[in-house]
Amino acid sequence: MSERVFNFSAGPAVLPIPVLEEIQRDMLVLPGAGASILEISHRGKDFVAVLEDAERQLRDLLAIPNNYKVLFLQGGSRLQFSMVPMNLLRGSGKTADYLLTGSWGKKALDEAVKEGATHVCWDGKPHNYDRLPAAGELQLSDNSAYVHITSNETIEGVQFSTEPDVGDTPLVADLSSDFLSRPVPVERYGLIYACAQKNAGPAGVTVVIIRDDLLALGDKSLPGMLLYRNHSENDSCYNTPPTFGVYVVGLIAKWLQEEIGGLASMAERNQEKAALLYDVIDDSDGFYQGHAARECRSLMNVTFRLPSEDLEKSFLQQATERDLCSLAGHRSVGGIRASIYNAMPRAGVEALRDFMQEFRQAN
Ligand code: PMP
Repeated sequence: MSERVFNFSAGPAVLPIPVLEEIQRDMLVLPGAGASILEISHRGKDFVAVLEDAERQLRDLLAIPNNYKVLFLQGGSRLQFSMVPMNLLRGSGKTADYLLTGSWGKKALDEAVKEGATHVCWDGKPHNYDRLPAAGELQLSDNSAYVHITSNETIEGVQFSTEPDVGDTPLVADLSSDFLSRPVPVERYGLIYACAQKNAGPAGVTVVIIRDDLLALGDKSLPGMLLYRNHSENDSCYNTPPTFGVYVVGLIAKWLQEEIGGLASMAERNQEKAALLYDVIDDSDGFYQGHAARECRSLMNVTFRLPSEDLEKSFLQQATERDLCSLAGHRSVGGIRASIYNAMPRAGVEALRDFMQEFRQAN
């Protein structure tokens, strides 16, 4: 297969073609560096310029205030499940509140309980993680170290569109699967983390945005690699950073700014794309059953079921024959999941919409 398909993978996921082309063009020689991005020292001026540029681009896109640091780390978001409580909870005598809106939030909690006292301030499990809490449903603890949320649950397809009100308690958010898909008021958060492999780049780099006062909290007895402060004091070069990943994050941020026109414009496009699929679901007389309650639907991961598993199998098979690929739901929940991140072109979503309509009529 040498043609590109429409790739609905949940991550690693589709990347913008202009970015892939720029990587390809500069793969042998990064302009001015005399070698490729894969071959230059992380201490040299050429890579330092790449890293500073990636940070500046992210700061511009997200309007990150000056009292926040931007870190480029490794270990994926799952390492953040541990680093967050290790730095912000361990030894604090406080309790960390976890708001569970899906499978990833639960996994984050499973790591936090190893580090200190935790409290589930809302749990969507009884209704199969199909909605977010209503105002007033959160039960925060009295002495809370932070409140952890998962802004977009990649498996269930449930997404926050605004921040829950947690008062003065630091809000910590796993933004892995909607980072850079929309504007985010960073000042409402204490810490944001996101692995890159959905909207922001390749697997291997994780972006952490952390408020200065929280950087002071981690205890020196932690392994050096797990202390945010070490990464901050060394400008993300405490050890060798994921150089290629940082480079691609910078290219993606530049693409978002220069070709898309910023995050508000990206969000508008994402809303339009998602509506194409949700409209088919809503107009299908129950043939397609969306998982998430309407007001909590994800613009990134559209999750739905068909009347039977046999129909789901043939849906996936026929979709793949049309080059609409990687549409199977996560192995833990089944069904169908169309991940339509920033770089999924509208044409891909339209092709899926057309196929969904035809499939329903034929069945
Ligand atoms: N959180 C969310 C919301 C995710 O979607 C994922 C990955 N799909 C993770 C955490 C875990 O990320 P990683 O594989 O980079 O550790």
